[in-house]
Amino acid sequence: MHDAIIIGMGPAGLSAAMYLARANKKVLVIGEFNRIWKKEVIVNNYFGTGEITGEKLMEKGLAQAKGFGAEIIKGLVTKIEISEKGFFKCLANGLEHIGKKLLIATGSALPKKEVINQDEFIGKGVSFCVPCDGFFFKDKKVAVIGSEGYALVEAIDLLNYTKNIILITNGKKMGFGKEELKKNNIILKEEKIEKILGEKKVEALKTNKGIIAVDGVFIASGAADSNDFAKMIGVVVENNKVVVDSNMKTNLPGIFAAGDCVKGIAQISKAVYEGFVAAISIIGELKE
Ligand SMILES: Cc1cc2nc3c(=O)[nH]c(=O)nc-3n(C[C@H](O)[C@H](O)[C@H](O)COP(=O)(O)OP(=O)(O)OC[C@H]3O[C@@H](n4cnc5c(N)ncnc54)[C@H](O)[C@@H]3O)c2cc1C
Repeated sequence: MHDAIIIGMGPAGLSAAMYLARANKKVLVIGEFNRIWKKEVIVNNYFGTGEITGEKLMEKGLAQAKGFGAEIIKGLVTKIEISEKGFFKCLANGLEHIGKKLLIATGSALPKKEVINQDEFIGKGVSFCVPCDGFFFKDKKVAVIGSEGYALVEAIDLLNYTKNIILITNGKKMGFGKEELKKNNIILKEEKIEKILGEKKVEALKTNKGIIAVDGVFIASGAADSNDFAKMIGVVVENNKVVVDSNMKTNLPGIFAAGDCVKGIAQISKAVYEGFVAAISIIGELKE
């Protein structure tokens, strides 16, 4: 059991981890290298560092959080659940991690665009969240589009509603999870999708290999982002940003958000500040 689980290893997540670990809290950070963790990115506007590469800055932040005792796991969270006792269960790399508090620090939620005409069918068979909309596809034939851990989790979740599922990677290679798909009779197709077909609602997918009749499509590309997590558990999002108060608290008890996934100017200094505020709020709540 962790005092806090932080999803995201960017400036917001690592800053929060540093303050939490420094206050002797058992903190786990789950994430991967962010978009500035590169030699080629030059940062020259962050206080006190002078000109520094994104890679160096992030490595320093990581070392500082680890130095205070934060535990770091490289990987992506594919699912969050709230237990009956109000703890947070995060699934990453096939393992479940449990925490008393949760901080979402996953950076900007980028548009999930898989099929050229998908927007025409939103609400007419195209959906982005199995826990939210799976119910509407009871016993229907449904495609999940994606090729990473998040798509696999969405496809498995869909089994609660229908057994007629195809996972389509949109031309990418599915490097893992094939056994699990087979075991659950989920058909895997590594075809490229050209467009969605249908008069008033989704009727089929046209791929580079032919036409696949489906009643619905779940877009689950890339990693689960803050919007996906918000939908899974009921956190309020506005204009693609998690809504927080001045203490970085979301609408749900014990869940916080910080950095580019909340509104404001996307800058390292803002992310670091918000990570700090979230940590102070969490430390305060853990005392209660
Ligand atoms: C090319 C580039 C250059 C930039 N230059 C500057 C600059 O010079 N100065 C400046 O102030 N700002 C700059 N920025 C903006 C700055 O990088 C961001 O504002 C800042 O990194 C936001 O921090 P964050 O922690 O909120 O999110 P991010 O840094 O985006 O980190 C998000 C973290 O969440 C993780 N994550 C996402 N999904 C999951 C999941 N499902 N499970 C687990 N982990 C997940 C990612 O792996 C990553 O570790 C730049 C941005 C870019 C892209």
